Amino acid sequence: RLLESSDTPESLPKKLKGYADVVATHYNSIEEKGVSERSKSRIFYLRNFHNWIKSMMINEYLGKIKEAKKQHNSPIRVHDMCCGKGGDLLKWKKGGITHLICSDIASISLEQCKARYADMKSRAARDRGGGNSYSIEYICADCTRIRLREKFSDPSMKLDLVSCQFAFHYSFESLPQAECMLRNAAECLQPGGYFIGTITDAYELIARARKSDSDTFGNNIYKVSLDFDINKPPLFGAKCHFQLEDVVDCPEFLVHFPTLVKLAKKFGLKLVKTEKFKDFFERMKNEGRQLLTIMRALETYPPNEGATPVGVEEDDYKHAEEFVKNRG
Ligand code: SAM
Repeated sequence: RLLESSDTPESLPKKLKGYADVVATHYNSIEEKGVSERSKSRIFYLRNFHNWIKSMMINEYLGKIKEAKKQHNSPIRVHDMCCGKGGDLLKWKKGGITHLICSDIASISLEQCKARYADMKSRAARDRGGGNSYSIEYICADCTRIRLREKFSDPSMKLDLVSCQFAFHYSFESLPQAECMLRNAAECLQPGGYFIGTITDAYELIARARKSDSDTFGNNIYKVSLDFDINKPPLFGAKCHFQLEDVVDCPEFLVHFPTLVKLAKKFGLKLVKTEKFKDFFERMKNEGRQLLTIMRALETYPPNEGATPVGVEEDDYKHAEEFVKNRG
């Protein structure tokens, strides 16, 4: 049957759900931990580094949007697609946006996001100079199967920015899902608006599998199992199982980047930039020097037991260590 905008992940017939249930259940089951608890984790600094990447990218694109709007002083509306527990809420506040739409498939994560927003708002009211808060709305839905616009408080709303952080790859389960997610990202953007995001690097993962001569590889922090023929990866449904310390243990899908670019074009999106984290860091490290310190994003993870989390190679650590020493 055709999906209705009133469908929720729970209401979908089982055969239409794919891995949605597994993914939602996984994210819903992740406990919300306080900073002190989080700081004990072996991936504390890796997460801080990822947060720094997101902060810098969000600022970069909000900056472009503000520059274009300079004359008009008009509102800035953003969609945080697959927002999770609202890890980016503060970034949106610091970015001075006007309105935020938060969507995610995991209802418990979305409830935690609501609580975080309420907390952030009351802090801002308490602390003088806490900055402006923005208005917010929430949508609990599978972004790869539901037309989100119909769930907006105003379906004709035009957005300046859609951000999908560490999540777009879930849509590459199938072509219709990738198309649905891209339509959701594109169709409400103003001309000149941006769709930004972070995904896993399919080339890197396949290269690591080939190098290790096995479809399962990793270290004592992460483990990836690729569930397809690594010599003939499919364009969609290239399923992998990803485990990262105590945080992620979930099926994901690899994104064939040229296919993403081609599909995005179909929905009116033109590729502006793609960068590996390593290159993004090189480009932004001086501008984001202070934030790296504040966010404790480069405090060195002890590269003991030969462990380097996924996406960060031994050489990058050495480079990062040098940078920390010299940052002055
Ligand atoms: N964007 C957040 C961040 O950067 O902190 C959360 C990232 S988390 C790694 C991935 C998120 O994507 C989870 O909250 C998960 O529930 C959500 N997600 C996965 N598949 C989804 C789907 N089909 N529709 C909506 N949300 C989805």
